Amino acid sequence: MTNNLSPWQAALQQFNIAAEKLQLEDALRKRYATTKRELTVHFPVRMDDGSLRVFTGYRVHHDTTRGPAKGGIRYHHDVSLDEVKALAMWMTWKCAVVDIPFGGGKGGVIVDPRKLSLGEIERLTRRYATEIADWVGEEGDIPAPDVGTNPQIMAWFADTLSMHHGRLERSIVTGKPVLTGGSLGRVDATGRGISICVAEAAKFLGMELNGARVVVQGYGNVGSWCAHHLAQLGAKIIAVSDVSAGMHNADGIDLAALSAYAAKNKNEIAGFPGAARYAPEKILEIPCDILVPAALEKVINADNAPRLHPKILAEGANGPTLPEADPILRANNVFLIPDILANAGGVTVSYFEWVQGLQGFFWTEADVNARLTRVMVDAFGAVNAMAQKHHVDMRVAANMVAIDRVAQTYRLRGLYP
Ligand code: NAD
Repeated sequence: MTNNLSPWQAALQQFNIAAEKLQLEDALRKRYATTKRELTVHFPVRMDDGSLRVFTGYRVHHDTTRGPAKGGIRYHHDVSLDEVKALAMWMTWKCAVVDIPFGGGKGGVIVDPRKLSLGEIERLTRRYATEIADWVGEEGDIPAPDVGTNPQIMAWFADTLSMHHGRLERSIVTGKPVLTGGSLGRVDATGRGISICVAEAAKFLGMELNGARVVVQGYGNVGSWCAHHLAQLGAKIIAVSDVSAGMHNADGIDLAALSAYAAKNKNEIAGFPGAARYAPEKILEIPCDILVPAALEKVINADNAPRLHPKILAEGANGPTLPEADPILRANNVFLIPDILANAGGVTVSYFEWVQGLQGFFWTEADVNARLTRVMVDAFGAVNAMAQKHHVDMRVAANMVAIDRVAQTYRLRGLYP
C-alpha cells in the first residue's frame, strides 16, 4: 500500500538515506533537513471582468552555500508550501550534481493558468514578481519556468523587475525568449539532457537504443522534447499522455504530427488521430524499454511499481517516484536515472543563459549543446561511479554526490559568525 508522503517528506527521506550513507555530521543533517527561508505572499489581481481576485504564491530558498538560489516558478492549482519546499531542496542537489555554482530555490502560485486569459496571466505574473522582488536578483535568486509557466511569462517577469530597477535586467531570470536575452538551446535543454542520460545508461547496460520502445507521461516542455530527442536517437515513442488524454501506437507515434496537433489544441493531445486512446492513469504500465514520467510528483508508488518493468526509468518530472517504490524498482532490475540528474539539462542551460547575460556575449546553439552534453555525461559518470563504489542505486548515488559537494563547500566556507 502506498503511504502517501507529502513531497517534502519524500525529499527528506531521500536526503536522510544519502546522508546516512555519507555519514554526514549531525549539524549539516539538521541544516539541510530544513529550508533557509520561505516567503508566502497573498496578492490581488484585476480580472478581465473588472473584479479582483486574491492569489497565494510562494518563494523558497533551500540553500545558497554554492551560489544564488536557482529554481523555477510553477503555476498550478495544487501548488503548496510543502511542494515548493521539496522542489527547492531538489534544486540544491540538482545544481550540485551537475556542478554548477547555484543553490536551490523554487516558487509557485496556486492558480490554474488554463482558466485565465493571457492578460490575466500577465498581470498575475507582474504582481507576483513584485511581491517576491526583494529576494530576486542575478546574484541572489534567479527564477525560471516550471509547470504552467513558459518563456513569455519569464519575459514579463524580467521586464517587471527591469522597470523597477530602471535598467534591463538580463540575468535576473532564465528560460526567457531568445530575443529578450534567452539562450539558444534552452527550450529543449531538459528533454535533451534526459536523452543524453538515457544514451549513457544504454551504453552502460549494453542496450540498443535503435527501436527501443518509449513511454512518456506528460507532453509539455519536458515530455515533448524528451520524446523528440529520444526519437532522434532511433527510439520509438509508443505511448504518451497528458492532462487531457493518453494514447498508444505500437508502430510509433508521429511526433511532428502530434506536436503540430497539440500546438493548435491549447497544448493538449486529446483527439490526436495518429494513435489509439489509452487510459492515462495506466500509461506507465505499458510494457516498454524506456519509461519517462514527465508530468508531476508521486505517480510511481508501492501499488504500481511492481507492474513497471522498463529497462530504464528516466525521471523527467521532479519527484515522480515515492521512496517506497525505489526498492521495488531496484528488485525489478529497473535502471533508474533520478530526477536531479535526468532533468538537470534545463538548469544547466539556464546557467549558460545567466553566464551569457552577464557577459552580454551569446553562444551558438551548437556551442550550448556541446557544453550541455559534456556536463550531463560528466554528471552521469560521477553518479554511476558513486553507485558502483557504494553498491547503491542511482538515486542514492546522485544524492550522495550532490550532498557531499554542498557539504564540502560549507565546511570550507565555515560557519558565520
Ligand atoms: P509543462 O507545464 O510544460 O508540462 C506538464 C505536462 O504534464 C503537460 O503536458 C500536462 O498536460 C501534463 N500533465 C499534468 N497533469 C497530468 C496528469 N495527471 N497526467 C498526465 N499528464 C499530466 O511542464 P514542464 O516544464 O514540462 O514540467 C514537467 C515536469 O518536469 C515537472 O515535474 C517539472 O518540475 C519538471 N522539470 C521541468 C523543467 C523545465 O525546464 N521545464 C526542468 C526540470 C524539471
